[in-house]
Amino acid sequence: MEILLARDGVFPVAFSASGDPLPGRPASGLSLPGTVQGEGKLAGVPSLFVRMAGCDLRCSWTAADGSRCPCDTAYASFALSGAFRVDVADLARLVAANLGAVRHVVVTGGEPFLQPAPLRELLVALKAMGPLHITVETNATLYDDPAARLVDLFSLSPKLASSAPSSDAAHHRLRLNLPAVQAFLDRARADGKDFQLKFVYARPADADEILSILVRLRGWTPSDVLLMPLGATPAEMARAVPSALEQCLRHGWRFCDRLHISLFGNREGV
Ligand code: SF4
Repeated sequence: MEILLARDGVFPVAFSASGDPLPGRPASGLSLPGTVQGEGKLAGVPSLFVRMAGCDLRCSWTAADGSRCPCDTAYASFALSGAFRVDVADLARLVAANLGAVRHVVVTGGEPFLQPAPLRELLVALKAMGPLHITVETNATLYDDPAARLVDLFSLSPKLASSAPSSDAAHHRLRLNLPAVQAFLDRARADGKDFQLKFVYARPADADEILSILVRLRGWTPSDVLLMPLGATPAEMARAVPSALEQCLRHGWRFCDRLHISLFGNREGV
């Protein structure tokens, strides 16, 4: 079965699917494949990423000062550029050739659950590689139980009103699917899996909306709620950091940095 990947596909890699060294260094600039997870409960953990292409949302945030901040992976979501199809078996061989001692694989996007059947096949192939921890990063608008059963950490990032482009009716309609979010939480609780509710924080009104979402969900604790300041660069993020920190202190939520940006800059494939 084929899967649609973003142009950075599996990253960072140093070997082909057949195990031959690729020319040059991985996008990280390091001498080994892999990177560290930059966001969330597993920040800093050595990981290899698979980026699937396509998204049902069209995020373009409005910051507190009124400036706009578009999705930083538009090439992988709604302005596809360089996306390609690959057989899941070949993709799995590429992952296996680049794992080394890394035991964490992060499937991200775009929106992975937009391709439920290929996602299922990929997760089965990853599980067959031995003890691997699998995170799926999702906007939580879609749920597929057979795929969810194969995931170890649900990184759920429901999108708030501040994410809405000025005119996109579908984004407004689709951005919050609380039954889908609850289905992830229920699967996590039933199977002893972990999850995080990771919200991009742009402005104080976001905290009110988060509270209004949380009262409609069951099975979470404040430490499962993460606030990630809006921004694709340290300077952009700095504008939202003090307010995000205050909200975390006020509500007992976690602050979520973007470690990969401080380590590697705002670059693809790291
Ligand atoms: S949900 Fe994620 S990938 Fe999709 S448009 Fe929004 S930020 Fe981009």
